[in-house]
Amino acid sequence: MSRFFDNKLRTVEAYVPGEQPKNVGELIKLNTNESPFPPSPAVIRAVDSAAVRDLRLYPDPTCASLANALSQQFGVEPSQVTFGNGSDELLAFCFHALCGNGAAFADITYGFYKVFAKMFSVAAEIVPLREDYTLAVEDYARCAGTVFIANPNAPTGIALKRGQIEELLQNKERLVIVDEAYVDFGADSAVPLLSKYDNLLVIGTFSKSRQLAGARLGYAVGSEELIADLNTLRFSFNPYNINRLTLLAGEAAVQDAPYFDYCRKLIIENRQYVSEKLRGLGFRVLPSMTNFVFAGPQEGLSGKEYYEALRSRNILVRYFDQDRLREFVRITIGTTDQMDALISATKDILGVEDYDCDY
Ligand SMILES: *Cc1c(COP(=O)(O)O)cnc(C)c1O
Repeated sequence: MSRFFDNKLRTVEAYVPGEQPKNVGELIKLNTNESPFPPSPAVIRAVDSAAVRDLRLYPDPTCASLANALSQQFGVEPSQVTFGNGSDELLAFCFHALCGNGAAFADITYGFYKVFAKMFSVAAEIVPLREDYTLAVEDYARCAGTVFIANPNAPTGIALKRGQIEELLQNKERLVIVDEAYVDFGADSAVPLLSKYDNLLVIGTFSKSRQLAGARLGYAVGSEELIADLNTLRFSFNPYNINRLTLLAGEAAVQDAPYFDYCRKLIIENRQYVSEKLRGLGFRVLPSMTNFVFAGPQEGLSGKEYYEALRSRNILVRYFDQDRLREFVRITIGTTDQMDALISATKDILGVEDYDCDY
């Protein structure tokens, strides 16, 4: 740290992203919840050499064409959506601009909330998940600050129903921000509630269900006023936060609904498959509505030991060295082949005979 670093930021502990290893070709990479599938063929066609030549020009700061496409899908007005360089950027804007009364979020949830609260000097009320890792909305009844809910939650994978989100919205003086990074894998979106509640903001991403983690594209959907507030932040920080290639890729991805549905259906099937297999091997697997499972080996094997044993077999998953999470690892759902490799490595680690192979 230099002596020039602002005092108020000295205690910020930066977010630690999951490892992005260099030898990714040799590994089965199941640690950062990316899609195992490539972007839609329409995306690959959209980002052509003409688009690259146009990189000499600034992108459209209003993201008009992408806003039209996404707003149609959500059944809202284009003025009700805006975009971030990843949803992380939009979440940062929310902590910066929409938390005048503080913020409230779970003890076990997306790690960035804590970092942003600290970074923007927002007083944070931490609301513990229940013993079984579920979130009880009534625990937020007395919180005055902006409520951040990852739905489904990470790294647990557990989802709330739309009716439970609606309960949180009854106090109209309080803003509720629902982070729907994983909603496309089977959970209820809160977007339909926007027609009834103006104290709701929904944040989403193209990183998980639309195969575009590397393009950095997140969105916010809410009332025209809330979106205007976020645009004040965007235009005061970086009006060109979404680059030209990402604008094209995002629009093409939105328009290819069949590919989107095909990929998420496969992920849901593989999630069910791997959850059953792991439970059959004695694991505790929390009920997931996401593209990952949070799974704990039983019988004296810690999450860390399982993580390391998988790692030595070239399978990379995520382990969290944090209270209540140490018994688990988070496993991204991959292709069927990758899931079979995970199960067979797990049997090897547990010393279980592999009867699944063909004789
Ligand atoms: C992955 C993730 C994000 C961030 O996604 P980006 O759009 O890639 O920045 C936000 N919230 C949760 C809960 C996530 O898991």
